[in-house]
Amino acid sequence: MGGAAVQRVAEPGEVLHRFYATLLKSFGPQGWWPARTRWEVVWGAILTQNTTWRNAALALKNLRRAGLLARRALQRASLREIELHVRPAGFYRQKARTLRYFTGWIENAHGGSLSSIFRQGVQRARAQLLALKGIGPETADAILLYAGQQPVFVADAYTRRILSRHQLLPPAAGYAAAQRFLHQHLPPDAPLFNEFHALLVETAKRFCHRNVAHCEQCPLGPFLEKPNDHSRKPTVTMSCGLSTVS
Ligand code: SF4
Repeated sequence: MGGAAVQRVAEPGEVLHRFYATLLKSFGPQGWWPARTRWEVVWGAILTQNTTWRNAALALKNLRRAGLLARRALQRASLREIELHVRPAGFYRQKARTLRYFTGWIENAHGGSLSSIFRQGVQRARAQLLALKGIGPETADAILLYAGQQPVFVADAYTRRILSRHQLLPPAAGYAAAQRFLHQHLPPDAPLFNEFHALLVETAKRFCHRNVAHCEQCPLGPFLEKPNDHSRKPTVTMSCGLSTVS
């Protein structure tokens, strides 16, 4: 039998699994979410909106010191007191209100039980969370995945940046489109989503920065296409000499 071998193009799901295996081997398990209780996950998901985890962690530390991490304690605290403690996380007035609003809502709608939200199933729980003031898709999904162990991928900016630079997503793909892609090509496996998301965040923080991508040092460097395969408008400098979109 003669003839040239036909090179098989890997399916997106296969590529994602290879990314996952490579990153896990390189960085090891990330142990996310960094919290002692499920309530801490919820408060952390709200506090980390539009800021770094470092700032959110400072706010959480203040709440812990003040004995306000428990839902009831937070519900009883004055808004002024909460504002004072969450100040390091930025947007502190808005975030203090969201924390208080969440404690009131869960008391009224679910008898104060987080488990009660998750028992409704992913779609209903997500719709309820998204209807709350101050809770957007990324926060809702972080709560569902990391506090509720529900199979919902947190398709945050770090995730979208990496997937678009590897041409798995269009550069302008929004949160919902990125999440659809991930759900379509990965099994609905909460521990996988948990670890994979954490590994992508670590990759972005170490190598795949917004304005410069250090591809030569990055474990995902070997997965990049050849320079002449790139057809997109170059806007980001990559240390390996490739150019790609942000
Ligand atoms: S730094 Fe380069 S190789 Fe690493 S994820 Fe970003 S684009 Fe890919």
